[in-house]
Formats: sequence, C-alpha cells, structure tokens
Amino acid sequence: MRVTLDWLGVATFRLTIGNLVVFLDAYLDRVPAAPPVGLTTADVARADYVLVGHSHFDHLWGAERIAARTGAIVIGSHETVRLLHDVDRIPERQLIAVAGGEPIELPDGIRVRVLPSLHSCIWATMGGADEACLGDLGVAHQERVARVTQAMDLLHGGALGADVAAHMAASDRHPRGEGGSFAYLIETPAGSIFWKDTSGHWTGVLRELRPDVALLAAMGRGNVNGDPVQGTLAQFIASEVEMLRPRRVVLCHHDDWMPPLTRPVDPGPIRHELARRTPEAQLVDMGYLAGYPILG
Ligand SMILES: [Zn+2]
Repeated sequence: MRVTLDWLGVATFRLTIGNLVVFLDAYLDRVPAAPPVGLTTADVARADYVLVGHSHFDHLWGAERIAARTGAIVIGSHETVRLLHDVDRIPERQLIAVAGGEPIELPDGIRVRVLPSLHSCIWATMGGADEACLGDLGVAHQERVARVTQAMDLLHGGALGADVAAHMAASDRHPRGEGGSFAYLIETPAGSIFWKDTSGHWTGVLRELRPDVALLAAMGRGNVNGDPVQGTLAQFIASEVEMLRPRRVVLCHHDDWMPPLTRPVDPGPIRHELARRTPEAQLVDMGYLAGYPILG
C-alpha cells in the first residue's frame, strides 16, 4: 500500500493511503499576503475523511466546505463538531465527535487513534526556533484566557490590517478556547503516522507511541504537560522526537501563514538539534503539494 503526503501549509496535510484520501486539518484558503499552497478548498474534488486537531480558524476553517463538496466524514472535538453542525449545517451523518482515547475504523484496514494533547502556549512569551524562552510558569487559566482574548481582539479589530480583519471575520467560528487539542495516530498496513497540529503534548502519551512517521507542529511556545517549555522551540521538537522515536519527521506550522502576524520559522536550529539528539530520525524537508511518498 502506497502512502503519499502533501503539505498544504500551517498544519494541514492531504494523506493519500492507497485509495483513501484523508485530510489532516483543512486550512487551505489563507490571507492574500500568505504564499499560496497550490490548492484551495474549491479545488478539492475528493476527500473521504477530515481529521481536525483543534477548533482554531487556522486548522478548522475549510473543513465545512470540503465536507459539503465531497461528503467527507469529519472527526474532531465536540466543539469542532458543534460548530460544523450548528454554524455550518454539516449533517450529523458526516460528523464524529471525539474526546481522546477513541480507536476509529476506516476502510482498507486503516485505524485512527485519537489521543489527548495540548495547545501551544499562545498566551506566553515566544521566540524563534533557537531563542530560549523562560518563565510564564503557573499562570492561572483566567489570566491565560484574558491574554488570548486581547490578542484575538487585535486580529479582528484591524490592528494587523484590513485583509487580516476580513479573513478573521470569514474564518473564525469563535470556538470556546481552542475546543480541546488532539494528536492522531493513523495506523495503516504500510506503517503508522503520528500527527499533531500545535506545539504541545502530554509526555505520558507520547512516550507510549512508536510511529514510523511523525508530523510535528513547529511554531510558538511549546506546552509540556500544561506549562510552557523552558528553553527553545528546537529543544521542544527534539524532545518530542526522542519520545516518539520515528524513522521520519516532517515539520509543519512553521511557514509564513498569516503575514504580518507570522514570520517563517527557520528550521535550521531544529535540524541541528535533531541531528545532535536523534540522528536516527530523518528530517524530511517538504514543500507545499509535494506528493511525497512517506510510506510503502
Ligand atoms: Zn491553535
């Protein structure tokens, strides 16, 4: 069974497993200033499933149009499913709500395991891949929410320009928080793929897994068991690879996905840290829409 992978910007991928097409997140349609990924939701003719990591716009937006166009089944948190059903009128038969811990059968001997995960610390100080960030430990949930709300108000309010404000008005479904964050383990007859769309994890969950391939979000301040990583993003990613021990690693979310809010994350320091700590793992540098043969 041949398994190919297309990166479509941010943490969105199209995974083609034999005859089955599985989208991981669905955010293809971005602000005009972001580099195009070569595919829009209007171009998506075929999708069987869409897995959604969390309910923020830069992950969820697009799932409703792909589901409506293709009849794909969307798997996501109860909050993701609530928004798709109540706001975007996706029928119940196309929705599977999960909370983490569910094994889901797909056709052709493929199984998806939903795993509890954590969102990156968007409320904490963050830097580039090799900038060490310290502190922000033990910040109360209420304070975290207040900081994030302030940042989202800036995006919506036009502080980053009219294009960003218009994009937010179209794309943001206003989830409660991020709706809960998941990682997914996709087990195929050709091997297994771990995918996580934001830089956070429970170490107890990652340590138990042995995927062949790990697709890891490399952006912002890593979240380790509920508190921000004390160190660099490169160190955070290397710690994930040490726990997972995959043969191949693919980075995502490190592109310039919403200028002027974002800058591309330089993968150089991450490559360097992985070469030092986990030399047995191959880091795959993937451009958009590469059709990369990842397994089989
Ligand atoms: Zn997010």
